[in-house]
Amino acid sequence: MTKSHTIFISDLHLSEMYPKTAELFFQFLKKHAKDADALYILGDFFEVWVGDDDRNPFNENIKTALRDYTASGIPVYFMHGNRDFLIRKHFAKETGVTLLKEPTVINLYGERILLLHGDSLCTLDERHQKSRKIMHNYFYQTMVLLLPLKIRKHYGNRFRTASGQRKSHLPDNIMDVTPDEVIRVMTAANTNTLIHGHTHRPAIHAIDINNVPAKRIVLGAWHNKGSYLKISNDSEVALLNFS
Ligand code: MN
Repeated sequence: MTKSHTIFISDLHLSEMYPKTAELFFQFLKKHAKDADALYILGDFFEVWVGDDDRNPFNENIKTALRDYTASGIPVYFMHGNRDFLIRKHFAKETGVTLLKEPTVINLYGERILLLHGDSLCTLDERHQKSRKIMHNYFYQTMVLLLPLKIRKHYGNRFRTASGQRKSHLPDNIMDVTPDEVIRVMTAANTNTLIHGHTHRPAIHAIDINNVPAKRIVLGAWHNKGSYLKISNDSEVALLNFS
């Protein structure tokens, strides 16, 4: 069997405020992800996304890098996070990525794997769950996208500041996933492996679902270093960093 692998990333929070992270992403595509069977991006790829019509130079550079990567023949699958939920089909068309619904179950090298951004698992954060319901409403999104770009940019900045301040004040158990919810969604999806991001707590957790050993893999956030999960076709699983 020839060894091959698939890569998962999330929570890059790409923004013109953090040019270093964008550099890491370009380096990642050229070096670390260049031989992948596929690349999965599980949300919060951008720090904030106010609409596919926001064609500022920073966004265009990221899109070009993604387009060159998909053009090399490697499929990229993209799931929304709670910060870039306004990414739509124009972005997908321009970059060649395939948008994924949440949740998605994939079959990877013979194993069923559940993919989530991860915020839906943080059920103790009631305020976030309420706003999540609204953010994921297609009608609401369409109404927002009808606003002038300038106004959306203004609200995007406010949203980013407010979200950052709130997170820094929340207790630990509210910021993290609810264990019962993890069991519930994995049982419903009939899978023993879950991959998600959002919490910025990279780890491979061994868990037990109805007396069967299972795994919850949490992807790491990027900032001054890159972070990715590599799953090989011989079942090797590695969470890796680079800078
Ligand atoms: Mn998130």
